Amino acid sequence: MLDSEKYGPQRTEMIEKQLRRRGITDATVLAAMAEVPRHEFVPHELRSRAYEDAPLPIGGGQTISQPYIVAAMTAALRLQPEDRVLEIGTGCGYQAAVLSRLAKEVFTIERRAELASAASEKLARLGYSNVHVHCGDGTLGLPEFAPFDAILVAAAAPAVPQPLLGQLAEGGRMILPIGDAEHQELRLIEKQGTAFLTSTMEGCRFVPLVGYYGWQEPPSR
Ligand code: SAH
Repeated sequence: MLDSEKYGPQRTEMIEKQLRRRGITDATVLAAMAEVPRHEFVPHELRSRAYEDAPLPIGGGQTISQPYIVAAMTAALRLQPEDRVLEIGTGCGYQAAVLSRLAKEVFTIERRAELASAASEKLARLGYSNVHVHCGDGTLGLPEFAPFDAILVAAAAPAVPQPLLGQLAEGGRMILPIGDAEHQELRLIEKQGTAFLTSTMEGCRFVPLVGYYGWQEPPSR
């Protein structure tokens, strides 16, 4: 049996039990997550666990986020088909693939070169041609491609990285986990004129955002 067929039922179950039943109602987000083959993005030996209700290791001490967190963060951004999106923390490229189904273009930055090149190859092989992978310190954003309609930060910051606020378009939305190694919460920030409206969502646990406007070194646990 082809892997694409083998994992179909697990993906359908993930959508139903982990997302819909927990209140993810955005049909476009559910459709994107029903389409993107999560098993293709996890390390080969973890394929059979790709649709579990949990984050999984992807190498170098980093993780692919739990499906529910990917869905909740994506839904909070209220993406439109013409939107240009920035993601910080490409990891294995799964979240970028999901975003690419809902937006026009996705720019994603990863600080670890080996993860950036692996994700770039994988996304190209799977046909996600509107995702552009960059390697570098994502806390600086990507000024040459700004402004962005939406920004998703997939690693935990001690505070909101200032350059990212400056790269949000008018009406733009940014979602990011803020907190220390032990406890973080998701914040949604919306730019309206010169104001940034902030709301706090659920608690979460991400790997640290390491960079100039992030942690200097990974915080000790
Ligand atoms: N979105 C990813 C999971 C992200 S894990 C996925 O779908 O797989 C968080 C990632 O952020 C890690 O790969 C880590 O190396 C990266 N990261 C941490 N600090 C960063 C920074 N300043 N700039 C870019 N990437 C960073």
